[in-house]
Amino acid sequence: MAEPAAARLTIDLDALAHNFHALAAQAQGAEVAPVVKSDAYGLGAAQVARRLWAEGARSFFVARLGEGESLRAALGPERAAAIFVLDGFTANAGPRLDAARLTPALCSLPQVSAAAAWAARSGQPLSVALHVDTGMNRQGVTPDEARALLAGQALRGLDVSLVMSHLGSASAPQDPRNSEQLQRFLEVRSAFAEASASLSASAGMFLDPAYRFDLVRPGVSLYGGGPLETPDARLKAVATLSAPVLDIRTIPAGETVGYGGSVRLTRTTRVAVVAAGYSDGVIRAAKAGGYAWFGRARRPLLVVNMDILVIDLGDAEARVGDAVELLGPNALLDDLATAGGTVAHEILVRLGRRAERIYLGEA
Ligand SMILES: *Cc1c(COP(=O)(O)O)cnc(C)c1O
Repeated sequence: MAEPAAARLTIDLDALAHNFHALAAQAQGAEVAPVVKSDAYGLGAAQVARRLWAEGARSFFVARLGEGESLRAALGPERAAAIFVLDGFTANAGPRLDAARLTPALCSLPQVSAAAAWAARSGQPLSVALHVDTGMNRQGVTPDEARALLAGQALRGLDVSLVMSHLGSASAPQDPRNSEQLQRFLEVRSAFAEASASLSASAGMFLDPAYRFDLVRPGVSLYGGGPLETPDARLKAVATLSAPVLDIRTIPAGETVGYGGSVRLTRTTRVAVVAAGYSDGVIRAAKAGGYAWFGRARRPLLVVNMDILVIDLGDAEARVGDAVELLGPNALLDDLATAGGTVAHEILVRLGRRAERIYLGEA
């Protein structure tokens, strides 16, 4: 491949397939239902979902109704996947859910009422998931509300095919909130004996097997993010961001680099000026502790501006036009997230639209 003239984002769908099978092995019989919300964490929901379908995935999760509609169109009639919408039954969602054959994950009592009213009007049972809040206090009916729904008539016309909840602390395996949430979920799911059950996303499926139930919902791990928010050798990098060296300079000791003079060099330093910046998804905060990969070693990020970043070359040989890896198999997603004070999820969705995109291994 020719050296890139500008930042390039390579999305390796073979690595995605590897991660899917690694997660399937970890799931030990539970269905792996990929989470492809927010355009598959910025990597392209259509390409990602089509490849995962080819690898055997049959259920997908999105956040928004519109994401579900786009995914249905991308999968086409020949790939009849179940698509769950995490926002649930939003205003006037009925006809659109029907048309795109989407399953809302109902997450409040008003949503349950609205879905039941739509089912009554359309005269057909509506397949739904029920999202139960077991302690995250974000989305879902309470366990008491869920039991009351079963006891009353509120679910009439609704076919609850999946009961689900979401863990708030699964990347910290020792956190007691995990087992509290598990206990609450076990109580609720026993009341919904006929529905499938799902509790875990990427991190939860690496906890004790009791957290796996019938279906797991990994997002970030499919895309290479470790379940403990640290690099995990079982998973491969799916996104690689690289950009060319624009210039090589030697800066005398005592000088500062970039805006505000915040980076002062204590020794004479050879640097490379690279044609990428936070517009391309290298977050500005990552310059403290962040690194790029060049010349077979990690090179500290000194400056991250909108279109330009500067790395300390050390003793590496470099030429204008050489490619610098800013994220990928050597510049690790979880390391960049830690350096930037964020999570891998946010790094991925911020990869931005400017870099040229290349897909490897499209189905
Ligand atoms: C985003 C999300 C997931 C996927 O989470 P990851 O940490 O990316 O694996 C699963 N379930 C729900 C309800 C979510 O909102």
